[in-house]
Amino acid sequence: MTFPIRADSPARFTGPLPAAADVVVIGGGVIGVMTAWFLTRRGLSVALCEKGRIAGEQSSRNWGWVRKQGRDPAELPVMIEALSIWDGLTAEAEADLGFRRTGILYAAKRPEDIARYEAWLVHAREHGLDTKLLGRAEVEALLPNAAGWIGGLLTPSDARAEPWIAVPRLADALARKGVAIAEDCAVRALDIAGGRVAGVVTERGRIAADRVVLAGGAWSSLLLARHGARIPQLSVRATVAATAPLPEFYSGAASDSSFAMRRRADGGYTLAPGHFHEFFIGPDAFRHLKPFWPHIRAELSGTRLLPAAPRFYPDGWFTPRHWAEDRVTPFERMRVLDPVPNRAEVERLRDRFGHAFPALGRPAIAAAWAGMIDTMPDVVPVIDHVAALPGLTLATGMSGHGFGIGPGVGRVVADLVAGRAAGHDLTRFRLSRFSDGSKIVPGPSL
Ligand SMILES: Cc1cc2nc3c(=O)[nH]c(=O)nc-3n(C[C@H](O)[C@H](O)[C@H](O)COP(=O)(O)OP(=O)(O)OC[C@H]3O[C@@H](n4cnc5c(N)ncnc54)[C@H](O)[C@@H]3O)c2cc1C
Repeated sequence: MTFPIRADSPARFTGPLPAAADVVVIGGGVIGVMTAWFLTRRGLSVALCEKGRIAGEQSSRNWGWVRKQGRDPAELPVMIEALSIWDGLTAEAEADLGFRRTGILYAAKRPEDIARYEAWLVHAREHGLDTKLLGRAEVEALLPNAAGWIGGLLTPSDARAEPWIAVPRLADALARKGVAIAEDCAVRALDIAGGRVAGVVTERGRIAADRVVLAGGAWSSLLLARHGARIPQLSVRATVAATAPLPEFYSGAASDSSFAMRRRADGGYTLAPGHFHEFFIGPDAFRHLKPFWPHIRAELSGTRLLPAAPRFYPDGWFTPRHWAEDRVTPFERMRVLDPVPNRAEVERLRDRFGHAFPALGRPAIAAAWAGMIDTMPDVVPVIDHVAALPGLTLATGMSGHGFGIGPGVGRVVADLVAGRAAGHDLTRFRLSRFSDGSKIVPGPSL
């Protein structure tokens, strides 16, 4: 199996661009697609521009966990709403998205893991979640023949979905509702007139719109910087592997401190290192070192530093920060950010899986891939209007957990754009936290 969405996959959304729309959405990941979904429901006309392929980047490459468990308390109300939206999406999209409420388990190897789980239970109780602490025997009952776990944290109502299937199928449903979706359509710049957003300049021409949503994942800060707005956003490479089909010994998602796994609809398991990322040092690393410092310090043992990103990456040393609207931009030079996976890490994953489940042994690997996870210093997103660029709303920096919450974020962003009540307290997600002297407090990152 090769990874299903790549730059050379044929474009599926190739219709004409409208000259104008009520709202232009930049980015065809889960956030952009779900924002367009709810904007359409509010009766607004939407054009969605994707530089490469729908869900080509993080939204297809992720683990497929749809979880409340371990989240920042400020995200929980949006996530609870997201899960109830997921419940109805299969019927609304008239397509199987692989969504199943099969539970999420964190398995503990050490007493300090249990202590961290216990601390998070306070938030679970406050929000009425079904999360519970498990003892050794209960973990063994869930994961038969497993080795070495002393307890765990389980949220049975959490879920899984199939990343490279779900978001493209949601986009298909959106297109059937009349949303203009354009792949191979990079937004080169915002069109600014009289100090406010008047639309976007794409590689295929202008679209007039007095409201624009930027949901560009790892590229958002680059586009914003072109317009003089800086956000502290960095990305890390995360490697993932898919086993060949295996007997179903566990139907949900589970992790410990060394690896994570999830049952897939095609009969295999998706495996990933628990806490290992690779960080390519670039100009933004120096620019944003201060706000990121608490997070970097906490994650240092699980982070491998590399001196430079490959060519054309968002924070590459030679990636232009300024460009003309009538020339090819960095967004067109990298249609789909498709990092090379770390093969040594894939081999270690096979070892860890085989060690944890000796009866199954080292699994055969059907495919390996990687994704660039875009993150903010406090590991929670930005969901806000951009005061310096009136008409622009930003939904980015999902910090490694935006797939599950995507439908909730899409609903919230659509209502912000439509001038309606967001329905949740978004204070923690405000953009100004990075410029008004606020203390940056990283979320629980469990
Ligand atoms: C390995 C990995 C594992 C993960 N596991 C999980 C998980 O289990 N559960 C979970 O909830 N989350 C997980 N995540 C995080 C989750 O995948 C992301 O938070 C989420 O997909 C982000 O969605 P997005 O729409 O913001 O960004 P993306 O999916 O990255 O989409 C952004 C899109 O914008 C496009 N774009 C950017 N700039 C422009 C431009 N100028 N013009 C046009 N288009 C543009 C890009 O091409 C891209 O397609 C994981 C991520 C990775 C990489």
